[in-house]
Amino acid sequence: MAKIGINIATGSLQKKEIIVGIDLGTTNSLVAIIHPDTKQPVALKEHNSSSLVPSIIYFDESNNTIVGEQAKQHLLTDAKRTIFSVKRLMGKSYKDVSGHSTSLAYKIIDDETESLLKVQVGNKFYSPIELSSFILKELKSRAEHILKTPVNKAVITVPAYFNDTQRQATRNAGKLAGLDVLRVVNEPTAASLAYGIGLHKDDHKTIAVFDLGGGTFDISILKIANGIFEVLSTNGDTYLGGDDIDEAIKKYWINTLGIDANAENEKQFVTELRLKAEDAKKYLSDHDSYESELDSHALTITREVLEDLLNPLILKTLASCTNALKDAGVEKNSIDEVLMVGGSTRVPAIKNAVSIFFGKAVNDSMNPDEVVALGAALQADILAGNNKEFLLLDITPLSLGIETMGGLMDVLIPRNSKIPNKISRQYTTQKDGQGSIKIAVYQGERDLVKDNRKLAEFSLKGIPGMPAGLPKVEVSFLINADGILVVAAKELRSGVEQSIEVRPQYGLSDEEVEGMLLASITHAKDDIATRALLEAKTEGEQLLETTEKFIQKNILFLEPREMVQTAEAIQALQLALTMNDKDLIHTKIEDLNNISRPYAERIMDQAVARAMQGKII
Ligand code: AMP
Repeated sequence: MAKIGINIATGSLQKKEIIVGIDLGTTNSLVAIIHPDTKQPVALKEHNSSSLVPSIIYFDESNNTIVGEQAKQHLLTDAKRTIFSVKRLMGKSYKDVSGHSTSLAYKIIDDETESLLKVQVGNKFYSPIELSSFILKELKSRAEHILKTPVNKAVITVPAYFNDTQRQATRNAGKLAGLDVLRVVNEPTAASLAYGIGLHKDDHKTIAVFDLGGGTFDISILKIANGIFEVLSTNGDTYLGGDDIDEAIKKYWINTLGIDANAENEKQFVTELRLKAEDAKKYLSDHDSYESELDSHALTITREVLEDLLNPLILKTLASCTNALKDAGVEKNSIDEVLMVGGSTRVPAIKNAVSIFFGKAVNDSMNPDEVVALGAALQADILAGNNKEFLLLDITPLSLGIETMGGLMDVLIPRNSKIPNKISRQYTTQKDGQGSIKIAVYQGERDLVKDNRKLAEFSLKGIPGMPAGLPKVEVSFLINADGILVVAAKELRSGVEQSIEVRPQYGLSDEEVEGMLLASITHAKDDIATRALLEAKTEGEQLLETTEKFIQKNILFLEPREMVQTAEAIQALQLALTMNDKDLIHTKIEDLNNISRPYAERIMDQAVARAMQGKII
């Protein structure tokens, strides 16, 4: 039965709030929703126009912004004020993009005081988050105009390889645009949903998502089981796409026409030639040859010639596919589906090559420009509670934990755990009267925190004075659906608490994750030995501390023989601790325990007896 909300304050009926799916792309962006009547995802568009909004922002002289097709016109006429490819800059520092910034016509600022880069337009500076928010604002207002209802909630897609910083930046861009970003979803996951893969709990599949857009290429291998989408590997080239094909056709014409492309008087011609090249490329996806004219030069190209020009690009993408399969540890013939995403997969030669490579027909029935946004809309619908059958989960690529005594890694959320997730564990203090406890959060598979990656650190302060071991500090890790971690610590006896959101400045690249996993395997034996030694040392040190304290307090009740024996055993243990010999430490711990146990028991019994004497039964 459908439910209708009633606003108690006004008595009015509440329309079910719409949640849109947004593909915030490098070249183009678009919005999709689930159609209220057909219940199918559809990309939003005004009559007779494209659903694609070029991800381009133009700033006029007063720094007012224009986004989309109109802004694109300014790429040629006012390049310094026309910003494109903002997605490449999300969550990046100047250093990260320094190799490529020369290819951008606009100005990137290296502000030493801020680690994240900014773009200069006129006399103003904009962060990639602000720039992306302009695109999102435009998408929001288009959607509102088409749907005639306010749009405040969205699901936004990001590449699978985006790290925490980039995901958080995307989320913040949404916030800045007035959108509550309910979830940040991986693009290949969205594409898979749009193809109906993973929509049912009993879907068990391994899929390859081949995404070739205008300027970027990604290949992702995903495992889908029990409603969980696991990204096994990603590979690709952030500077490879349809633009390279346009460039190759342009060069081909320049050569055949015998033009000096660097001559000042040919600049305009070459720029227009580039636009013709894109027309030709698109035309040749459905025809065998292309003919046109520019400034009375005949422009022709056949599909056969184009295919020769495409060869280097195709080989590069297939090399990435091979690497992705290798990283995922998956054989080609275990891939159940190959999904085609991105406008450039319309090129028949590319489709054929991919299908030959994987040895199976590719899934190309959906519009490759829209498929990611359509998947985002499906995800939005699930979040809106309209589709309660399934819950979409992602998993953590590396273990998360905290540092415990001796620099050991205590894992709270193991690698490959489902997201969202919450786990709590209790810890205590080491010293009497310890007023604060340090919580250092690490990511990685190694036993020692020094070999893992530190994500954050904070102190739980204000713990009231208590003997060591008495405070109960509960540390909880909460990973929300976007993979953002919140760590909280609470001393349960006093109620003192503190929490932080872990937002590492830079997340890990896939290579780094892979490297850390490999290291954990290579060093597994060393790690076990080191962990055992550290545990023995910690135990030995604690025993020394408690024994010394006990003796100080009870010196009057000890016999001289016991004092001498204890002092000797303490010395022997101290020596063993300096020798880094786990077995020796254990032996000396046992020796000291054997010597102290009899008198400790005797003294305790006497104390109990003394306490009992004063009581009337
Ligand atoms: P995207 O980034 O996914 O929007 O893809 C845009 C790229 O797809 C651009 O390089 C377009 O030129 C290219 N593209 C769009 N339509 C076609 C087509 N019919 N044939 C070949 N390439 C196309």
